[in-house]
Amino acid sequence: MTGTPIVIVRYGEIGLKGGNRRTFERALQVRVKSALSALPHGPVERPHGRIVVRAPDDPRRTAERVARVFGVTSTSPAVTVDRSLDAVAAAAVEHAVDAARRRGTPDGTGLTFKVATTRADKRFPHPSTAVNEHVAGAVHDRLPGLTVRMKDPDLVVGVEIRSRETLVYAERFEGPGGLPGGSIGRAVVLFSGGIDSPVAAWLAMKRGLDVELLHFHAAPFVGDASKEKAVDLARALSRWCGRLTLVVVPFADVQVAIKDGADAAFRTLLYRRSMNRIAARHAEAYGAGALVTGESLGQVASQTLENLACIEDTADRLVLRPLVAHDKQETIALARAIGTYDVSVRPHPDCCTLFMPVRPKIRGDVEELRAVDAPLDLDAVEAEAWERREIVRVREGERVED
Ligand code: ATP
Ligand code: MG
Repeated sequence: MTGTPIVIVRYGEIGLKGGNRRTFERALQVRVKSALSALPHGPVERPHGRIVVRAPDDPRRTAERVARVFGVTSTSPAVTVDRSLDAVAAAAVEHAVDAARRRGTPDGTGLTFKVATTRADKRFPHPSTAVNEHVAGAVHDRLPGLTVRMKDPDLVVGVEIRSRETLVYAERFEGPGGLPGGSIGRAVVLFSGGIDSPVAAWLAMKRGLDVELLHFHAAPFVGDASKEKAVDLARALSRWCGRLTLVVVPFADVQVAIKDGADAAFRTLLYRRSMNRIAARHAEAYGAGALVTGESLGQVASQTLENLACIEDTADRLVLRPLVAHDKQETIALARAIGTYDVSVRPHPDCCTLFMPVRPKIRGDVEELRAVDAPLDLDAVEAEAWERREIVRVREGERVED
């Protein structure tokens, strides 16, 4: 192989953040490093406007992993080469051959390509058009099946002539964008085993929040399978954020108290009000400024404006609903893209459907709910449920023991 392997890490939004920019860049650098804890590599540097991972053992895997770090817009496994047209062309050919082979065509048949050169260092003796032509000629000689196409080609061979080094690559992994984890703050996600709340958690993390996942579990009324589902969803999400904590709260006693003490029509709303109180308790302990839910407007009968207001009433802090404007199809598409969908559709009973009334309230009234809720006097049973919480830690897709 020609040249020295590196991985180029690009970011968008955070490059624009004015005075905060350096803080964000540092936060991103830290998250890139921690995402690579299991992949040997050299220094993670921060030259102007990007991050570079030096000496990766496995450049491709490294680039793929970093492309799941929030704040990153794209990555490329690349090489740095000597500053000569011949060295650039040799590396470009090797990378193009590899990329074509991965797309199942050893001579490039059926693929379109272009060479894109940026010449930041104007001392380089050849203009970028000349580099493009020279490199494209060399690539085409080796992969005669390729055809040149300027607009949206299958393959882009990138050449960057910078003042300190010259880079060549032919692959790009798209990242999620957004902001680096923790750069905005912390939140507690109300995390069911459904399709929506994992996507909501992912979107919250994308906007720079570190999260803990809070799952209410109705054992012994439901089996361990629904808890394992929450664990598997947390594992799927940890492929993005690295480390993640799932907190499982035994909720059955609360539910029984509600079932025994209040009119059946209020049950679901009372469950959710209680969940919010316990989540607020947890947020206090975790130092979280907000709760995050998978609620959306009008998606199920319970998600009317009135009912959302009845539920929010007990949250005692900001409630974020990243999916509020999503159609179900948009959420499903995102769930597939982030790798939670297949787990979410595994059948399981959710604790919200336990002791479901025939006719639940569709348009609750906050004052009425307060009046029904107060005499239940759930404080002690909620405190007890939270005390009995179980902590599950996951990391890079796997469950880890403390
Ligand atoms: P999801 O797909 O996330 O389960 P949903 O469309 O089924 O959402 P609801 O059942 O009304 O809608 O739940 C609304 C939100 O309440 C969920 O997105 C989640 O944030 C929270 N929630 C519901 N059940 C639980 C639970 N067992 N543990 C924690 N949070 C829950
Ligand atoms: Mg649900």
